[in-house]
Amino acid sequence: MLARRALTTCTRHSSRCFSSTVKRQADFTHAVIGGGTVGLAIARRLQRIDGAQVVLIEKHGMVGTETSSRNSEAIHAGIYYGHDTLKTKLCVEGKKMMYELCEKNRVPYMNCGKWVVAQDDEQLDALKGVHDFAKSIDVPIRFISKEEAQTREPHVRAQAGALESPSTGIVDSHSYMQFLQGDFEEAGGTTALASPVSHISPPANGSGEWKIWTASPGSEEPVPSSPSPQTHDQTTAQGEDDTFITAETLINSAGLYACGINNMILPPSRHRTPYYAKGSYFSYSKSHPKTNTLIYPAPIPGHGGLGTHLTLDMGGRIRFGPDVEWVDNPNDLAPNPDGERFRTAIEDIKSYLPGLDGDAVMLDYCGIRPKLGKGGAQNTGKGDFIDFYIEKEEGYDGFVNLLGIESPGLTSSLAIAEHVHDLLYR
Ligand SMILES: Cc1cc2nc3c(=O)[nH]c(=O)nc-3n(C[C@H](O)[C@H](O)[C@H](O)COP(=O)(O)OP(=O)(O)OC[C@H]3O[C@@H](n4cnc5c(N)ncnc54)[C@H](O)[C@@H]3O)c2cc1C
Repeated sequence: MLARRALTTCTRHSSRCFSSTVKRQADFTHAVIGGGTVGLAIARRLQRIDGAQVVLIEKHGMVGTETSSRNSEAIHAGIYYGHDTLKTKLCVEGKKMMYELCEKNRVPYMNCGKWVVAQDDEQLDALKGVHDFAKSIDVPIRFISKEEAQTREPHVRAQAGALESPSTGIVDSHSYMQFLQGDFEEAGGTTALASPVSHISPPANGSGEWKIWTASPGSEEPVPSSPSPQTHDQTTAQGEDDTFITAETLINSAGLYACGINNMILPPSRHRTPYYAKGSYFSYSKSHPKTNTLIYPAPIPGHGGLGTHLTLDMGGRIRFGPDVEWVDNPNDLAPNPDGERFRTAIEDIKSYLPGLDGDAVMLDYCGIRPKLGKGGAQNTGKGDFIDFYIEKEEGYDGFVNLLGIESPGLTSSLAIAEHVHDLLYR
C-alpha cells in the first residue's frame, strides 16, 4: 500500500531533494499514476534526473496487468499515423529506442518484419498510401514481387500485392516491463502496488504540492463510463481509510482510467469521455500453415484497429486478432463467444491464409484500447483520426496528462517517457 511505503521511502531518502535551489517539502518529486508500460517507462526516465524521488502508483498487486499485457506485442514501424502526429513521431523514435534497449539488456525481441497484403485493387490502393507515407518519413518499406512472396511465404495469399515493413518486430512485453520496473527501482524509485488512486488535490496556495489519495485495495474504484461523460462527483468520493502522499509533479498514465483521473482534477469544461474498443484474440493449435513474418490485411479506412492480423510470439506460435468491438465498460475483458464475430474473424483470416483450419482456431484473451473517440486506427487524412493526447495542463502546475494511449503505445513507451520529460523540463 502507498502510505506505508511512502513513509519508509521518505525517511530513507529524506536528504534527497529534486530541486537544488528550492527546499521542497513534498514526499516525492514525481508521482506517476499507472504501472503499465507507459507509466513504467516514464517513472524510470524521471527517476534518472539528478535528485529525483519518483513514486509509481499502481492499483493492482502487480504492474502491467491491464492493457500492457493484453496486446499484440508488435514493435510497430510507424507507417499508419500520418504527418505531424505524436503517434508517428513517438512510434518511430520509440521503435529505435526499444530495439536498442532490448538488445543491450537482453529483453527478448525479434525484428521479424511484417507484410501488409492486398487481395484486390482497392486494398492495393490502401497499400500504396501506406508505402508513400512510409517513404516520406524515411521508414523502410517496399513492395514484394509475386514470385518473392510465393517463395518466402508460400501459405500467404496476396492476390493484388504485398508490402514489406522490415523494421517491424515483436517484443516479450512482460520481460520488457520487468526490466523497466527493475531498472526504476534499482535507481531508487518506489513502486506502490495495491494503491488505487481515489482522489487528487491540486497544489493549493502556491504550495507546489499535489496531494494524492489512495483507497484501500479492492475498494470500489471509479469506473469511467463510455460514451457518456462522467461527472466530477463520481470520481472524488473519499473513503474513511484513504491515505495520501504529496508530490511536486503528477503524471496521469492510468490507461483505460486516465479520463477518470483527468476528470478528478480538471473542471467539468475540460472533462474527457473515454471510449473502449475491445479486441479479441484467437489462438491456433495447429503447426500448419506457418509464417515467418507478421501478416496484416490492408488497413480499412475508419476501422478502430488494423484488421484481424497474424502475429507471432517469441516462441514462433501464431495468434490472430484483435478485432474491434465497442464496449461500455473497461472491465469487459471476458472473451465473447459470439458465433457471428468468430465466423467473421475466420473469414478475414482465410482471406490471407487460405489453408487455415478453422477448427483449430480458439477464442483466447481480450484487450481494450483506451480511445478518445471512435476514429480509425489509420490516419487517412479524413479528419477521423485521433492522436495521443500528452499535455502539460495549463493552470495546473506540474501536471502532465496522457490520454488515449492506445496502439502504438507499447512501441512508443520509451519515446513517450522522453517526451514527458521534455514537456516538464525543456
Ligand atoms: C488489443 C490491443 C492490441 C495492441 N497492440 C499493440 C501493439 O502490437 N504494439 C503497440 O505498440 N501497442 C499495442 N497496443 C497498445 C498498447 O498495449 C498500449 O498503448 C499500452 O500498453 C498502454 O500502456 P499504459 O501504461 O498507458 O496503460 P496500461 O497498461 O493500461 O496501464 C495503466 C495502469 O494504470 C493503472 N491504474 C488505472 N487507474 C488507476 C488508479 N486509479 N490508481 C492506480 N493505478 C491505476 C492500471 O491498473 C494499469 O496498470 C495494443 C492495445 C490493445 C488493447
